[in-house]
Amino acid sequence: MKARTRFAPSPTGYMHIGNLRTALYEYLIAKASGGDFILRIEDTDQKRYVEGATDIIYNTLKTVGMNWDEGPDIGGNYGPYIQSERLPLYQEYAHKLVELGGAHYCFCSKSEADEQKDEEMNIKFKDPCLHLSLEEAKKRVAAGEPYVVRQTINKKGKATFNDVVYGDIEIDYDELDEGVLLKSDGFPTYNFANVIDDHLMHITHVVRGNEYISSTPKYNLIYEAFGWTPPIYVHVAQVMKDAQHKLSKRNGDASFQDLVAKGYLPEAILNYIALLGWNPGTEQEIFSLKELEQTFDEKRLNKSPAIFDITKLKWMNGCYIRALPFEEFHKLADKEYDTFLTREVNRKELSKVLQPRIETLKDIATIAAFIETLPAYSDELFINKKMKTDAEIAKKSIALAIPALEGLNEWTNESIFECLKAVAVENGLKNGQVLYPVRIALTGLETTPGGASEIAAVLGKQETLTRLKQAA
Ligand code: GLU
Repeated sequence: MKARTRFAPSPTGYMHIGNLRTALYEYLIAKASGGDFILRIEDTDQKRYVEGATDIIYNTLKTVGMNWDEGPDIGGNYGPYIQSERLPLYQEYAHKLVELGGAHYCFCSKSEADEQKDEEMNIKFKDPCLHLSLEEAKKRVAAGEPYVVRQTINKKGKATFNDVVYGDIEIDYDELDEGVLLKSDGFPTYNFANVIDDHLMHITHVVRGNEYISSTPKYNLIYEAFGWTPPIYVHVAQVMKDAQHKLSKRNGDASFQDLVAKGYLPEAILNYIALLGWNPGTEQEIFSLKELEQTFDEKRLNKSPAIFDITKLKWMNGCYIRALPFEEFHKLADKEYDTFLTREVNRKELSKVLQPRIETLKDIATIAAFIETLPAYSDELFINKKMKTDAEIAKKSIALAIPALEGLNEWTNESIFECLKAVAVENGLKNGQVLYPVRIALTGLETTPGGASEIAAVLGKQETLTRLKQAA
């Protein structure tokens, strides 16, 4: 069967990592079957509307390469794909549902309903309007009295349904709330709109967070009242910050945008979140989106919550950085250089040195800070047993290196390296006795990305000589 799945985000102005993961699983279920991935904007909660939020949704999906087959911007056979443009549809179906006995008109004011709920400590709202005859209720509607359409749940016993991840689920009908489906302003609630849209858009698989499991029997009652077949349900476990806390915006946790701003590559984030709740059944950890499309199987989704492990993401990001074609890495690195480098240096050489050594793009500014400003260092740094150097040998080597480098015409890693080696040989020194002190003098650091000649090539001849003269 060709699957039709949908990503149905609310435009909150923020792409939560858990939501992006849901979108990815939806996308993969569709693509693994050669089916369609649909984008639907759920903006019926007007209180939550955030300017520019749909662009964040579009941009995020495009950035990670999850292109949709139908959606607000490209249309499709089942539009509109923005819920606020579908109000007449919800209204039509809400009235139909009342006729079918799946819902009723309720004339209680919001405060009456809220009060009863509060008083009864959130025990189910017992709607006095349930007892009105349909005829009487319709008369009041026709007379212009404000009303909501409220779901009617008159079943006893247990609702059962199957979920791909959690298996057979049973919930007492008694636990279900007769919630509002259509508000007095004519807007649907999520609980109603999701069913109408999923049916009208021919959605085959509904993938969403497991917090929706407890409401699923309510949705099934609506499908049943209309005589429609419910979709296949795929409820996914939460993404957790740790064993107790959900990853949430309220806790200041990362969104996709935050992670990109922290120097993570979109492809690495996508790869990481694919594995956050899904197990390929092999040892493979690095997957491109195309590979995921070929490998994904929703039966391998995990029931247990996934803990967002930033260390693992960092490691994976490092793998992606190293795998980038050099020119692509250099382009990304160049933008980082602009944030802290005012000095004219050989940026390409710097990129060569950094690419194998960083895990996030933001590491660049820290690791390469010495290129911009030589940190203060003590002569003790020249003491190194393994390299057989101390401050005295260092000063001597540096003094010998200066004229040799001054005479060098071609300024490349290789030519500098050969020149420094020659200085060692000609003066009866070991290579390390020249290379080590030169590296310290150029960086002021014990550990550096790259060796003496690589760093000299980055710094350029003039700055190299200035730093060496400062140390001599
Ligand atoms: N708008 C809902 C959300 O963002 C969608 C849930 C669903 O996929 O049905 O949580």
